[in-house]
Amino acid sequence: MSINSKQSVKCPQCGQMSDVTVWNSITAADSPDLKKDLLEGRVNIFCCPSCSHRALMPTPMLYHDETEKLIISFSPTNDPVLKQQLFENVKKSASESGELEKLSGYNLRFVTDYNELLEKLLIFDNGLNDKAVEVIKLMILSQDIEKSEQRVCRFGKLENGSLEFMIHDTAENNIYTSSVPLESYNSVYESLIQSGMKPYSFDWEIVDPAYATRLVNGFNNHMF
Ligand SMILES: [Zn+2]
Repeated sequence: MSINSKQSVKCPQCGQMSDVTVWNSITAADSPDLKKDLLEGRVNIFCCPSCSHRALMPTPMLYHDETEKLIISFSPTNDPVLKQQLFENVKKSASESGELEKLSGYNLRFVTDYNELLEKLLIFDNGLNDKAVEVIKLMILSQDIEKSEQRVCRFGKLENGSLEFMIHDTAENNIYTSSVPLESYNSVYESLIQSGMKPYSFDWEIVDPAYATRLVNGFNNHMF
């Protein structure tokens, strides 16, 4: 069930008061329009009617897609310590409530960044698995290892048999794209599965570049 509330927000830029609809929970099946809005980055974004200032509302949101067997818990924060605490809380309450038993075959993701949330939705919407996608992103960034620290790679789209990635170089402040054939994705996915990667979750997971690094290193250690 999709759940929202109305909040009165004072614009941090110009001080104008306005009402914002804030979504705490989105179920894809009963609100396809809402899913579209979310994919376009318009959900829980405050946009001032007076000065057009835009900002993310600091509201946690749960996204549930039964068809794709995907649940994303989104808790906006930039603080890595708070992120870890919130993640531990989500795992703790899941194990205490026994909800994990009802969610077998599901992918359960915890994210704190709005762009990462949108990226996850796009990945699963295109029938891809984010664990394999994160490994491919590592491979793309490792092509220029000296600059990999200053670059952020995001999945953009799947088109004409290719995965397209956007790479933002935060130091040089430019964006370029990189394409990877779907066949390459498929062979990475297959080899990860053969190495023991599960295409679903046993618990809440953070699947990010650090996860992909552990995945690749773990499998390497295992193999040699
Ligand atoms: Zn304003």
